[in-house]
Amino acid sequence: MDFRLTPEQEAFRDTVRTLCDREISREYVRECDREHRPPTEAFQAIAKQGWLGINIPEEYGGSGAGATEVAILLEEVGKSYLDLAFWLFRLVTYGGFAVGRDGTPEQRRRFLSNVATGEWSICFALTEPDSGSDAASISTSAVRDGDDYVLNGQKVFTSGFKVSDYVLVATRTSRADDRHHGITNLLVDTKSPGLRSAPLETLGHWSLGTTMLHFDDVRVPAENVLGKPDEGWSGLNAYLNYERLSLSAARTGAAQAAMQDALEYAKTRQQFGRPIGKFQAVSHKLADMAVMVDLSKLLVMQYTWRFEQGLATPKDAAVLKLYSCEAYKQVADLGLQVLGGYGYTMEYDLQRHFRESRLGTIGAGTSEIQRNIIAKSLGL
Ligand SMILES: Cc1cc2nc3c(=O)[nH]c(=O)nc-3n(C[C@H](O)[C@H](O)[C@H](O)COP(=O)(O)OP(=O)(O)OC[C@H]3O[C@@H](n4cnc5c(N)ncnc54)[C@H](O)[C@@H]3O)c2cc1C
Repeated sequence: MDFRLTPEQEAFRDTVRTLCDREISREYVRECDREHRPPTEAFQAIAKQGWLGINIPEEYGGSGAGATEVAILLEEVGKSYLDLAFWLFRLVTYGGFAVGRDGTPEQRRRFLSNVATGEWSICFALTEPDSGSDAASISTSAVRDGDDYVLNGQKVFTSGFKVSDYVLVATRTSRADDRHHGITNLLVDTKSPGLRSAPLETLGHWSLGTTMLHFDDVRVPAENVLGKPDEGWSGLNAYLNYERLSLSAARTGAAQAAMQDALEYAKTRQQFGRPIGKFQAVSHKLADMAVMVDLSKLLVMQYTWRFEQGLATPKDAAVLKLYSCEAYKQVADLGLQVLGGYGYTMEYDLQRHFRESRLGTIGAGTSEIQRNIIAKSLGL
């Protein structure tokens, strides 16, 4: 198995890193986080480089790169600011990947070209108040009426809605014994009459936020159906697996940043006449963090390699998502401990990692659900 980066991919990684160092200072991140404000300036700087179209074909203004380049971009941006990486992950997943995979030629032309320039952002609404892990139980209805579908129902935890022009909504269009049938995915204009959003207060993800959506007779043109009506479940699974890659890459970057902060602190903070990193109890924490970061990076690279070879399975996506999210959570927790009382203050960034890492084992399929997928692949 060979999944090393090529010289071109290494050069791309270095270019992204240079831009992130220049455009995304710690102060900028802290300000966006504190003020619950989207990092629009940094997003635009990335758009200017043409990287928003990284996985969009050249004919629509993208660069047509593979999953490895997507992972490099998200990992590097995730090192600087996870919420910004999350903004990008939605574009590459629900724009480049989903519309690229299932869009009609007209949808590809319209959506991909606008996503590639940063003109349009996209978010995703699957979860409902009564349908979380059991995603096939969604009930937000879409009923055909002439050239439109009419949507009614509620979604919860739709994240990044406030910066989005379109939301990809999973709806119920018919009922059958098999709940996986009768699901239709629709690209809905976020300014549609009858669509109302209400922000939710959460532990993290403050810059982009997460919202409750209420659909009250929202009319959506039938031409905005992504994929085949009633057969949206297989598309959803493909999108979620791609999401698991893009989110894992971003979190792997964030875990590296959390570890780096703890390492620097351990080398400089003096107690009992020496740097605390000289105490084995502290240095072993750093060693454990280094192992988890290395393994996350390897799993990301292995997954992108398998994806590009057409070999990636849902189990591979679940292993990657489960490990990288649990690893980031542990790295952030250990890192905060290394900083002692200062880690608990808002003055240092470890508290942000501690809060942000908590979402990883919940969103996009909880760790329990990833274990279910892995166990099923083992014949259990
Ligand atoms: C900040 C945030 C952002 C999010 N962003 C989005 C978004 O943009 N779009 C979107 O659609 N959704 C989003 N989500 C929703 C997220 O994907 C769900 O929260 C998640 O899938 C779990 O669903 P639930 O919260 O309803 O928990 P539940 O499904 O009610 O689960 C509760 C607990 O029971 C466990 N459990 C449930 N079923 C099983 C089972 N079969 N086996 C073992 N354990 C089980 C779960 O693992 C969990 O520990 C977001 C959530 C959060 C918190």
